[in-house]
Amino acid sequence: MIDSLPSHPWPELQPGWVWLCGAGPGDPGLLTLHALNALRQADVIVYDALVQEAILDWAPQAEHIYAGKRGGKPSAKQRDISLRLVDLARAGKRVLRLKGGDPFVFGRGGEEAQTLVQHDVPIRIIPGISAGIGGLAYAGIPVTHRDVNQSVTFVTGHDQSGNTPGSLDWRAIATGSQVIVIYMGMKHIARIAGELISAGRPLSEPVAVVTTATTEAQQVLETTLGTIVDDIDAAGLEPPAIICVGRAVEMRQVLDWQAMAAGAAPRNLDPLGRGRPAESA
Ligand code: SAH
Repeated sequence: MIDSLPSHPWPELQPGWVWLCGAGPGDPGLLTLHALNALRQADVIVYDALVQEAILDWAPQAEHIYAGKRGGKPSAKQRDISLRLVDLARAGKRVLRLKGGDPFVFGRGGEEAQTLVQHDVPIRIIPGISAGIGGLAYAGIPVTHRDVNQSVTFVTGHDQSGNTPGSLDWRAIATGSQVIVIYMGMKHIARIAGELISAGRPLSEPVAVVTTATTEAQQVLETTLGTIVDDIDAAGLEPPAIICVGRAVEMRQVLDWQAMAAGAAPRNLDPLGRGRPAESA
């Protein structure tokens, strides 16, 4: 089956192994070739809520086991998932653990991998495109831009108990990073926006909320820190969402390539007010 991939020394998924693999943010076209190679060889795929059905359809030979957990709820079942992977591997299966985005970005992939290794199960890690980068790109938002930011901070809006992470120093984040990308931020957005504003970020600071990014249901809300809570309500937006705080959001005025795919003409604007051609140093 793997012959239909381009010629390359593709690794073989051996019985008794578990490959922890990122499925990307949604669009099946954002899978890596290593992910496709894995999908074609797996006997069993243990997948999360954020993995699109269309991707599983590419592995009709495999048994598909759903191991979804709803974001923010206590992860009581995490141990069960990890141990199930151990059992499947010990039963001699070729196991593919498929997780949304990148397995090592807010995905508990590190914990699962460690449990497997502790139980003598050999692993391979296949990175994926994380929603906080690829999802924003699908909204026309570059996570870095020389005129905006020299750093970007990825933050989770929940901790293991479902609360805003008490250990996060929001003041340091607010003052230290021009662009802040928030995963799992919808539930506590009022609190998060309040923290950023009280740390000195302006009420007028641009914010984008991108829900079900890269899928056909993708929605993008452009708002500000001061109006985000009302605007999310008014638009009826639901998780999963990536929230991007910072002037990078303004680049969407020029880089909304999905609008172009839908027929809009390219717009020659200067959203960051550079007053000079984009290519000049
Ligand atoms: N490992 C994943 C993140 C898992 S945490 C990754 O690298 O992308 C789950 C959170 O990821 C969601 O609450 C949401 O904030 C974000 N997320 C994942 N897929 C998304 C999508 N298609 N659109 C918007 N947000 C997404």
